[in-house]
This record gives sequence, C-alpha cells and structure tokens, in this order.
Amino acid sequence: MVDKHVVIVGAGPAGLLLASYLLRRSGYRITLYEQRSDLRLTPPSSNRTFPISLQERGRQALREIPGLEEAIATQSTICTGTIMHRASGKNRVIPRNNPSLMLDRNRLVVVLLQYLETHYDPGQMVVQFDHQCLDLNPLTQTLKFEHADGETITVTYDYIVGTDGASSKIRAALADQVDFPCEQIFISDAYKSVFLNQPEVGLKLAADKVHTWNLANNLRMMLVPQGDEQLNGVLIFNIDHNPITVLNTKEEMLSFVKENFPQFGELMTVDEAEALLSRPVARVATVRCQRFHEGSNILLLGDAVHAVSAAIGQGCNAALQDVWVFNQILDRHRDDWSQALPKFSHQRIPEAHALRELSDYSFPRNRWLVAEFIWRLQISRIFHRWFPKQVPLFLFDLIFDSDRPYSEVLRLHQSWIDKVKRAS
Ligand SMILES: Cc1cc2nc3c(=O)[nH]c(=O)nc-3n(C[C@H](O)[C@H](O)[C@H](O)COP(=O)(O)OP(=O)(O)OC[C@H]3O[C@@H](n4cnc5c(N)ncnc54)[C@H](O)[C@@H]3O)c2cc1C
Repeated sequence: MVDKHVVIVGAGPAGLLLASYLLRRSGYRITLYEQRSDLRLTPPSSNRTFPISLQERGRQALREIPGLEEAIATQSTICTGTIMHRASGKNRVIPRNNPSLMLDRNRLVVVLLQYLETHYDPGQMVVQFDHQCLDLNPLTQTLKFEHADGETITVTYDYIVGTDGASSKIRAALADQVDFPCEQIFISDAYKSVFLNQPEVGLKLAADKVHTWNLANNLRMMLVPQGDEQLNGVLIFNIDHNPITVLNTKEEMLSFVKENFPQFGELMTVDEAEALLSRPVARVATVRCQRFHEGSNILLLGDAVHAVSAAIGQGCNAALQDVWVFNQILDRHRDDWSQALPKFSHQRIPEAHALRELSDYSFPRNRWLVAEFIWRLQISRIFHRWFPKQVPLFLFDLIFDSDRPYSEVLRLHQSWIDKVKRAS
C-alpha cells in the first residue's frame, strides 16, 4: 500500500513531535514546512525565544518516544521551584513537589529536529525550512508556499495538520472558506527576550529555580538558568503602557533594568542592554476555536487552535499533550482519520477551553489577592497532607505537579477563578 502523505505546516514543538509519532506508526510519509530558517544554523541570541517549563502533561507525551524525554532533559535545567524576587530583598521561594524541565523554546525545537533527522531518512520525512504557507485549498487538496527567495510552490496532500502557531494560516484559510468558528485576540502582554550571563564569582542566581520579578502595571521579568553560566528569559510588559518606548540608548536601558529589577540588572552588560533595546517586541495572541478539525483530512493542533497567555506556562504542555491524545485516538480507530478527527475535537475542546480560563484567571494581578493566593497555596498543602481526600491541592499545585485534566482542575477551583475574574 502507498504511504499517505501528511503535510505538517509549522515545525514548532507540536508539529515536530507529531511527525515522530506518525512515523512510528506505519503508512505515513511526512513533509514539514517551516517559515523560519533552520534554528541550528543561526546564532541563538538572534532569534525570538523564551524559556519553556515542561511538567507531567508535556513530559508524558515526550516519554512515549524512546529516548526523547532523556534527550530533552540533558538540554534542560531541572527546576525545583520558583523564587519571586522583591525589592526589599525578602524573596519568596515556592518549592515544587515534582521538578519541571526548563529549556529554551528553540532548544526544544532543535532536539526534536535532531531526533527526527537521526531516526528517519529523507524518503520518510523531509523538513522544508524557509517556506511560508500562504494558502490552503481544501477542495483541490493543495497548499501554496512561498520560499524565502520569492518562489512559490503548490503541494498536494492526503492529510494536512496545521501546527503553525497562534497566527495560523491554516486556521485563517479555513475561517475564510468554510464554517470554522475561531477567535484570535491580541492580549496586552508583550515581551522581549533577554539573555544574561552568570558571573564566575559573586552574585549568582540559584541554578535550579525559575526567577521572577513582578512589578506594578504588569511589568515583570522571568529568568531561567541554562546550566550554571547562562540565564535566558523574558521582559514582559503591557503594550499599552510600554515603559521601554521612552528608552533610546543602551545606558538608559541598562539603568531601567537596574532600577526595576536590581538583582537581575547586576547581571546585565552594556552589550546585552544594547541588544535588548534593538530586539523586536513580540505580541501574545490567544486563540479559542469551536472545532479542531475540518472534514476527514484536516487537523489543527497546539497554539494554532488554543494559544493561551503565558501566565501559567501551559501552552506547550497542552500542545504536546494534543499529540499524545491524537495518537491514542488513531490507535483506537486504526488510523481511520474520518473517525479520529471528530473524536479528537470532542475530547480536546473542553480541555483547551478550561486551560484558557486557568491561564487568564489563576494568578491574580491585584496585590491583596496575590497575598491570598500564596496563603491558599500554603494552607492547602498542609491540609491536603492531613486530609488528602477532603482537601484538594490548590490549583497551582494541580497544574504543575499533577496530570489531572485541566477541566477537572477548573471544576475544583472555579470559585477562585471567579474571584480573580471579578477583581480583574
Ligand atoms: C513568553 C512565553 C513563555 C512561555 N512559557 C511557556 C511555558 O513555560 N510552558 C509552556 O508549556 N508553554 C509556554 N509558552 C507557550 C508555548 O511557547 C507555546 O504554547 C508552544 O510553543 C506552542 O507550540 P506550537 O508548536 O503549537 O506552536 P509554535 O511554537 O508557535 O510553533 C509554530 C511554528 O509554525 C511556524 N509557522 C507559523 N506560521 C507559518 C506559516 N504560515 N508557514 C509555515 N510555518 C509557519 C512558526 O515559525 C513556528 O515555528 C510560552 C509562551 C510565551 C510567549
């Protein structure tokens, strides 16, 4: 029997993991199209990136492919908690029961790519970089791409999977041509990537913790150690009150960081301040869809159909989990996509919508509610130890230390979500 040709648009975490899963099944030939250049050939600091934290939901999906979770773990920081830094110097440490893997989004992509290329030959799988998807025609089963040199090509497919992120072209093409109800909203959070080096001696930030610093007006910085020497992170701000627009020189940028995030500023060099000034501002979009498939041969996964704010860092975990769930559904339906696709939408949509609520309203922005949040977290840990059946863990512990469905976490903590929503 001739292998089915699956075209995957977008070689991010979801698209690359899906390729590994499909290639372990028999009967598929894969072509991945990615608009960016091969990340292995460009210097890390020239790319827009940010750290990703992977917990059980995402790790479970990686674990199913032999050796993949280990390969990713060797590139990750094993993170045992978060340190919330404060100007007073009285930092808050929030330990985690189960360590997470923290790594740069682009490093994760490179490990997934390397895995594919060492396990499959070009007859089974090809990645076409520098190819931007322009359009999809479901009637002729064709896709149009533009290469970075300006040439356009048209390709045919048996199945197509859109894993092209929050601004998905596949989703937009469906919304234009068929009834495909989806909503995309650009939220007020925007960010710039930050790269710092730890000094050999002197002030060092703990290498096994995420470091966050939250200020008023939603201005915050998050840093994740990459080994002992480097910290990658993001400076997040409200695009409507962007404090950086008034900064014009590297010296102004450096003193802005030193003033607002003193401990982090100590690690910033003038060169990094200059680079930070010129790095582009990235916007964050959220996406909510009522269906994740169209017909019997078009599927969308990950951010393309359920991008969420980065507030609780679950988007990638959920995208990887999509792939794991889809693989189980293919098992149950013996690779009959006409049955598998509606089942996938049915199973994943409630999870995606619950994740959206949790991402928007788990962590409060109001100072008093932050204090209550930390109090609830601590109290529930104590009472849960004594009465595990009666007192559930607080929602952050269920999100980060368990693989409970997001819909169940939301159901257990709906009253907290409602309280944060009312205060927003
Ligand atoms: C600041 C920040 C911090 C985050 N932290 C976390 C975290 O700690 N934990 C977590 O789980 N999640 C986190 N996330 C979310 C996470 O990054 C995403 O959910 C995840 O990357 C989604 O994977 P994806 O493969 O679906 O999409 P993406 O990673 O967006 O990949 C999509 C790919 O498609 C390509 N593409 C797009 N359009 C086209 C086109 N027209 N043609 C061809 N290719 C195209 C893109 O170049 C990209 O490579 C964070 C996000 C942000 C912004």
